[in-house]
Amino acid sequence: MSVRELVVLGTASQVPTRHRNHNGYLLRWDGEGILFDPGEGTQRQMLRAGVAAHDLHRICVTHFHGDHSLGLAGVIQRINLDRVPHEITAHFPRSGQRFYDRLRYSTAYRETVPLTEAPVDSDGVLASTKSYVLEAHKLSHPVESYGYRLVEPDGRRMLPERLASYGIGGVDVGRIQREGALGDVSLDEVSEVRRGQRFAFVMDTRLCDGVYALAEGCDMLVIESTFLDGDMQLAVDHGHLTAGQAGAVARDAGVRHLVLTHFSQRYSEPDEFERQARAAGFEGELTVAHDLLRVPVPKRR
Ligand SMILES: [Zn+2]
Repeated sequence: MSVRELVVLGTASQVPTRHRNHNGYLLRWDGEGILFDPGEGTQRQMLRAGVAAHDLHRICVTHFHGDHSLGLAGVIQRINLDRVPHEITAHFPRSGQRFYDRLRYSTAYRETVPLTEAPVDSDGVLASTKSYVLEAHKLSHPVESYGYRLVEPDGRRMLPERLASYGIGGVDVGRIQREGALGDVSLDEVSEVRRGQRFAFVMDTRLCDGVYALAEGCDMLVIESTFLDGDMQLAVDHGHLTAGQAGAVARDAGVRHLVLTHFSQRYSEPDEFERQARAAGFEGELTVAHDLLRVPVPKRR
């Protein structure tokens, strides 16, 4: 069984609180682990969440503010200490290369693992695997910020009644899938498109085209809602979103499961984020994230 789930490691913007660690998120997607925005303390949060360095295959950093990147130093050293045997690739804005270099080599340690760097400097595809295409889109924040999106390629779902009506069974099912036709019967006649799943990670941005491009049609959208709507001016001034804005984006993009996170320390009432996202008209599944929460990617439609 392939596992697709979000493991929330931390949910605080700017500074950790008594109840929220700095940001950090692991996406398990089939056999791979993608670590997003490891803030300070991520190594310990991984331990608490049951995530090992061996679970990591990719690291995606949206931008170089501390709450999204200070954990790199510890996580990278842990990857080396544990001698992770497979390739790990790090994506981050190229404009922040000097910050990445400092975090990677912040103290002395023995390097045992070749960490591949694949910096981002424009919108587009970063990587393609059998189970996803990883894309980046530029966001709008006081420092350069990129959001990330995973798109699983569409597949085909076989239709048992149609197969039966053409008398196709046994090994012939595999054959028509591989070859696209069997005699006069084409694959299209006995199957339908199985839409690939989509996941997006939108962190630290004001509303911009990139937000909508990332969120479009997502099964799961993890998005910052640093502020409540009453503090809209703060959100505008600091380049962030409010809960209502995040809810409206998810509504317009047809998101199925919305995960709100990256909360300012000024609020102590998480339910208000949900109320405001709902008031904006979002009707899908909604989670107000807290640390160590696991959220499964919704089942295929
Ligand atoms: Zn932040």
